[in-house]
Amino acid sequence: MDKTPKTKEKRLYTRHSLLEGWDQDIIKNSTVFMIGVGALGCEIAKNLALVGIGNMILVDNDTIETSNLSRQMLFKPGDEGKPKAEVAARELKKFNPYMNIETYFTFLQEIPLEVYKKCDLIIGGLDNIKARMDLNKICIRLKKPLIDSGTLGFEGHVHIVIPEGIEGLESTPCLKCLLPIPPADEKLIAACTPKGIPKKREHCVLKAEYEFGNRFSRTPDFDNDDDIIWLVNKSNEIAKKFDFKPDFKFDDMENILKNKMPAIQTVTAVIAAIQSHEILKILHKLKGKDIGPIMSPPYLNYNGVYGIFELIDIAKDPNCLHCGSGKFETIEVTINKNEHIDTLFGLVSSAIGECDPDSCLITVELTKKTIWNPFVERLRDPNKTLNELNIQNGEILVFACAGKDPLNILISYDE
Ligand SMILES: [Zn+2]
Repeated sequence: MDKTPKTKEKRLYTRHSLLEGWDQDIIKNSTVFMIGVGALGCEIAKNLALVGIGNMILVDNDTIETSNLSRQMLFKPGDEGKPKAEVAARELKKFNPYMNIETYFTFLQEIPLEVYKKCDLIIGGLDNIKARMDLNKICIRLKKPLIDSGTLGFEGHVHIVIPEGIEGLESTPCLKCLLPIPPADEKLIAACTPKGIPKKREHCVLKAEYEFGNRFSRTPDFDNDDDIIWLVNKSNEIAKKFDFKPDFKFDDMENILKNKMPAIQTVTAVIAAIQSHEILKILHKLKGKDIGPIMSPPYLNYNGVYGIFELIDIAKDPNCLHCGSGKFETIEVTINKNEHIDTLFGLVSSAIGECDPDSCLITVELTKKTIWNPFVERLRDPNKTLNELNIQNGEILVFACAGKDPLNILISYDE
């Protein structure tokens, strides 16, 4: 009989050991990558810390605001202004001192691909479509399951994206399959026409923000009552001119300017719990174990008004721009990271025919950063190495050459 005393860590999970199929070591040795440590992110991270996840990577480019404290349970009064990922890590360590946590206070597009590669799966707790789509692309490229979710008012959904080519898991439709054309960004439209006529009442506030920036050369501070009062007065002045009613109030400003959506903790908790449990099933599946099949169809909607859960049949779009035939052609080029960009042009030319550095623009697909532009002095040095240009292994570069369709070049370092 094994007489080794149980460690304190093991004792924590004695109830788990009674679960059929459960393997605590799988959970302990897993690495989950969480993008967005907001309302959903806090809940999911808390659940996963409690069940004993060994490694967690937290990414959020945001700092804590007062209105977060009613829904984001890892943040406490006094944490306002601090980076969300860092504060979350501090609190999660209290739930689970055995967990390793890495944090990033930046945009998901700026995280090195190497960081993504070391995780088992990716969890989306994002609040905007553009970031979701970029994340979708990364997951498909790196063949990592993406467990995404969102809430809006009293409703929420969970969507499990399994890219093609993951052993033991059947692929599912991606985020882009369901949303081939992203909805127009109201704020962007309004901001593009600051001198134009506001088409909606909310646009008056966006115009007021624009005028605030012009006048004070900074963005308004929502902890400063004077700034908010200035915005209320200016918004009402504009609304009056264009005959919009009712008048704006103090509380309207932050919600409109920051594109805030209605949200409540109860719905967040329901959605996060479902998402967390599917994550545990996927982690087991990835290691050849089973605590139940993955939710099928892989899309669930929850309506909190009527207390209704609905599994929704979703289909892959064969022409999907991310996972289907609509993808740009991608050519893999193997190169040393200390080679000059000139050499890369040579390799691309031999793969696709003439690719003239004088009429070609290169951008990084994910960050949209330009790394070669023949018309900009600092962006046309043929002797720069790929390493100096900060190009990562596995990065996709978009070559836009005059008179040709844009081409994706997947950089693979030969080391
Ligand atoms: Zn797709």
